[in-house]
Amino acid sequence: MSVPIEKPMLNNNNISAIKNPNSQRQNNRIPIKLIPTLQVDSLPSDKIHMRQQKGYFQRIRTGMNSLLVALFFLLPFISYQGRQAILFNISEQQFIFFGTTLWPQDFTILAWVLIAAAFLLFFATVFWGRVWCGYLCPQTAWTFMFVWIEERIEGSRNKRFALDKAPMSFKKFSKRTSKHLAWGVIALLTGCGFIAYFIPARELYVDILSFDASFWVATWVWFFAICTYLNAGWMREQMCLHCCPYSRFQSVMFDANTKTVTYDATRGESRGPRKRKQATDLGDCVDCNLCVDVCPTGIDIRNGLQYECINCGACVDACNQTMEKFGYKTNLISYTSENGLVDKAVPFYESYKFLGYGIAALIMLSVIGINISNRTAIELNIIRDRQTLYRETLTDEVENSFTLKIRNKTQQARHYQIYVSGNTSYRLAGNSRLLINAGEQLDYPVTVLADLKALESNPSAITFTVSEQHNNNHVTQQSNFFSPL
Ligand code: SF4
Ligand code: SF4
Repeated sequence: MSVPIEKPMLNNNNISAIKNPNSQRQNNRIPIKLIPTLQVDSLPSDKIHMRQQKGYFQRIRTGMNSLLVALFFLLPFISYQGRQAILFNISEQQFIFFGTTLWPQDFTILAWVLIAAAFLLFFATVFWGRVWCGYLCPQTAWTFMFVWIEERIEGSRNKRFALDKAPMSFKKFSKRTSKHLAWGVIALLTGCGFIAYFIPARELYVDILSFDASFWVATWVWFFAICTYLNAGWMREQMCLHCCPYSRFQSVMFDANTKTVTYDATRGESRGPRKRKQATDLGDCVDCNLCVDVCPTGIDIRNGLQYECINCGACVDACNQTMEKFGYKTNLISYTSENGLVDKAVPFYESYKFLGYGIAALIMLSVIGINISNRTAIELNIIRDRQTLYRETLTDEVENSFTLKIRNKTQQARHYQIYVSGNTSYRLAGNSRLLINAGEQLDYPVTVLADLKALESNPSAITFTVSEQHNNNHVTQQSNFFSPL
């Protein structure tokens, strides 16, 4: 990842202006001031190589990231009622979640889940800032995993910088090859892990590793593997800086009580190096630069809140380590809010944004609860025979024909019974009991008869009920019964 190096643009006009300031007045130009910029040679490399940091927040981050990665890979292997517990079965248009099957018609529930998740994220962001980015985002988890592998193979940060600068040799070639191979294996497993949510996992891994997968399955696995490799191996913080929309709009959720990683400039400035236990008038920042070295996005948090900061807490741990070495109070860099810095932090329940997002998230969760509780395991659609409205029989009865589209939304075969009811005593001709296999939809033609003399209006309402045998599951739908009245 290249670090852009700003150089002042010099031309004949402004060079002469530096030499002779009076010439500036003559051509009405604003005098320029040369600010020393970083020399290319002073940079260790054009890459960000973060220093590995240990500490309280890094233990939390590593723990949460490890849990996330383990769940990602293991969840598709969990079985429930004899099937993969979580599966987006695209070919059969089903989303199976621990025995509950959602069909395209139920996808409003999924939409509500996504909306609720967004509000929960906003709710957390108002008080805890970018806690998602630092501790739960897959981009962070996979990037740190790839950096960990890089460090195991190529060595510490300084060794990696040295390797970047070193000419190609057998040692450099073998280290680079091993690193990219290791990254490739993780990326391929990640591709499989992702597709395992769409295709039964146990077959997928075997098919991919034995080169027996179908063309499209292999294409998707490799597509996600390449994305992972590029993302976590090469792009890393560029994704957070340039592609992630969340980093751009999160600031609208922030207020003076939002906790972010903050440098206490009042305490730290003026910064400067010193020896341990040396009396000094300087602030507490010893300018060790550790907070910059450990930063995955390569920023200096001492410059204030920046959108590049993913709140990973690495600089907090690094600075605390330095403060302890120098015998200073810790938390020169800490998770604190603007109000917290001046001892005016208010409890979270007094923040209107926090309460607002919390209430919105609760409403969304209630809507999901209501949607799920109203969901039936049977789906019924009634289609009238459009060719003939009604037929009269020789026995003074009127008959109407319908097609019932009944879907068994469960993962087991079920027996159903069809009933008809209304103001008139309707009667079903033919068999009213049927068996539907798991997840199947049956188009079932039925004929309903009614005594012509008993009919009071045209059309008259008729209610169909499809009831599952041996339990209370049933679904009803109304239609019209036509007659010559
Ligand atoms: S500034 Fe600190 S918290 Fe922010 S990304 Fe860099 S190391 Fe992480
Ligand atoms: S780690 Fe702390 S002491 Fe070192 S430069 Fe950063 S803020 Fe200053």
